[in-house]
Amino acid sequence: MKISILTLFPEVVRTYLGASILGLAGEKGHVRYDVRDIRDHADGKHRQVDDRPFGGGPGMVLMPGPVVKAVEEASAAHEPGAERILLTPQGERFDQRIAAELARKPGMILVCGRYEGFDERIREVLHAREISIGDYVLSGGEIPALAVTEAVVRLLPGVLGHAESATDDSFATGMLEGPQYTRPREFRGLPVPEVLVSGNHAAIEAWRERASEERTRVRRQDLWQEKSDTAFRRKEEPR
Ligand code: SAM
Repeated sequence: MKISILTLFPEVVRTYLGASILGLAGEKGHVRYDVRDIRDHADGKHRQVDDRPFGGGPGMVLMPGPVVKAVEEASAAHEPGAERILLTPQGERFDQRIAAELARKPGMILVCGRYEGFDERIREVLHAREISIGDYVLSGGEIPALAVTEAVVRLLPGVLGHAESATDDSFATGMLEGPQYTRPREFRGLPVPEVLVSGNHAAIEAWRERASEERTRVRRQDLWQEKSDTAFRRKEEPR
């Protein structure tokens, strides 16, 4: 997969992409990163990318010219089928289902906003998907773009070793992962559940399943309800 990130802060993005699992995934060739500075596509001596909003109001708005040009140039270097994505708090809420969907694409072009956000014509011209990482406002799209990148890259084949497989992670099955323990076997009087050191793999599996269900039921009624509804529908469906 190829991932382009278009930003006004390319160094911040490059540093993060070079570290840990994202860095290794790049080195091993599971993913190719392409970080572009939106300012490189701006005209004039000052390479201006933002301007005051028509109609007045606070802050600055990202001008359409440099952003559209940057996206079009980046897109030309992608395979057909790559997803164009604007990061914006007004987009569809990102989750594991969207991450899995994006992981099946040949590429993504992620566009980071800044200041007061995008001139509306950027939306109209690019017809890009719009993604939000939650109902709060950050100052720029870099952290959202990196959050999307990390969630997607973890799912690419070969990126996580067997030991850190993503299939057990929370949300992979629509549930939260249950509690995890490592050494020591007792910490401040708190022991590791006996079953986990029993060596009985079937019992461990059953314990983990129950623990995951319990955690989901207590912490995330929305997920729990969805899971129960799906199970109910499956039972009801005619064979
Ligand atoms: N004025 C905009 C609005 O009310 O929708 C918010 C602009 S925000 C200060 C600047 C940029 O940060 C946005 O263009 C977007 O790229 C990014 N951003 C902020 N919060 C975000 C979120 N929750 N999800 C995705 N991107 C976000």
